[in-house]
Amino acid sequence: PDATDTRRASTARSAEAFLAAQAVMPGGVSSPVRAFRSVGGTPRFMASARGAYLYDVDGSEYVDLVGSWGPMVLGHAHPAVVWAVQQAASQGLSFGAPTERETALAREIQRRVPAVERLRFVSTGTEAAMTAIRLARGVTGRPLIIKFAGCYHGHLDALLAQAGSGVATLALPGSAGVTEATAAETLVLPYNDVAAVEAAFATHGERIAAVVTEAAPANMGVVPPLPGFNAALRRITREHGAMLVLDEVLTGFRASSSGWWGLESAVEGWDPDLLLFGKVVGGGLPVAAVGGRQDVLEHLAPLGPVYQAGTLSGNPVATAAGLATLQAADDAVYARITHAAHVVADALTAALTAEGVAHSIQWAGTLFSPAFVDPADGPVTDYARAQAQDTWRYPALFHSLLEQGVHAPPSVYEAWFLSAAHDDAALGRVVEALPAAARAAATATPA
Ligand code: PLP
Repeated sequence: PDATDTRRASTARSAEAFLAAQAVMPGGVSSPVRAFRSVGGTPRFMASARGAYLYDVDGSEYVDLVGSWGPMVLGHAHPAVVWAVQQAASQGLSFGAPTERETALAREIQRRVPAVERLRFVSTGTEAAMTAIRLARGVTGRPLIIKFAGCYHGHLDALLAQAGSGVATLALPGSAGVTEATAAETLVLPYNDVAAVEAAFATHGERIAAVVTEAAPANMGVVPPLPGFNAALRRITREHGAMLVLDEVLTGFRASSSGWWGLESAVEGWDPDLLLFGKVVGGGLPVAAVGGRQDVLEHLAPLGPVYQAGTLSGNPVATAAGLATLQAADDAVYARITHAAHVVADALTAALTAEGVAHSIQWAGTLFSPAFVDPADGPVTDYARAQAQDTWRYPALFHSLLEQGVHAPPSVYEAWFLSAAHDDAALGRVVEALPAAARAAATATPA
């Protein structure tokens, strides 16, 4: 029987809601991972959230380790953010005209990340990536984009491409509906492999518009760049006149107060040409942005020939949420998130070790995830190794936690997201739940 059967009584309304949703929406969801396909069972339909907790339609409470996939650094329904949103909403939901709040949010981003000389707001990380690619191609006049296997930048055609064949670097489509012509303009390389980047530039250098990389990947589980990898990308792109696009959609204002770039630039001192932001910059509402060099951003319409626009871009309510979130996210907030992440990661590794489950805890700033690999082989550094782990252990771990009131990410390839609202009581509940979850992982068998 399915692991969720034991809780059928208390998940009845979620199960009903899931059936109703499937009758009107493909898979019953607005974004695929919410459907629990990689862990099985019934997704919990949520009714509300506050602080570190989610409440589902059956009335169950969960310590939330997903944080809406990143935005909720302060926890859910933070009073300052809710107040700012209510104030903004009472003044009108959307004007289709500029507001001073957009400038204030742009300035706050710039204060934290000085590499942002200019910035354009969009609504999703996907749009930010799409805009960056068009800009890079528009400025360089070149067609090709390099991305890394295992890095996610949203669902735009150009970046869904995955490493297909081991022979050519020219990619096969990673999704039905992506034309071969589009996929052929994306070179997919193994992550953390400077030699592969050098080789791609040696062959195609004159035609490469940009290298797009997650600042620290967290969509194949957390797989941080090896020391010097991002700096090498900077050096190589500069030598060949290509742009370096640093995707901080997930890590921005999350991995640290100034994102992953803030952690690295303090040590290695380099700037990308373009940066992508999302998630935290909207505080839970749809705001994302592409920022970077002034001379590059000024190629955007209305100043330049690269067209880009959005009916709801820089929306006054959404930017109010983002601004209130960043204003409240001070050093104490990041210290709290760091502490919370270490408490959970330490307890997770202790519980897995006690059960003899081979694993590595992968870190990038405040972000971590477990990978079920032999730690004797070192940490996971690329997608091939991330895929080769004992992924089948994760559903057992996940469902045990869920049954104990802890909502971990429903896929082994996702980071675990803590917030400043994860106080000792919330963390205590996670710590208490982990030994049984680790036991479930230990006794799981490959499907
Ligand atoms: N880039 C990264 C690194 C992401 O993690 C995501 C989403 O998870 C995106 C881009 C796409 O953002 P969105 O889902 O807002 O389109």
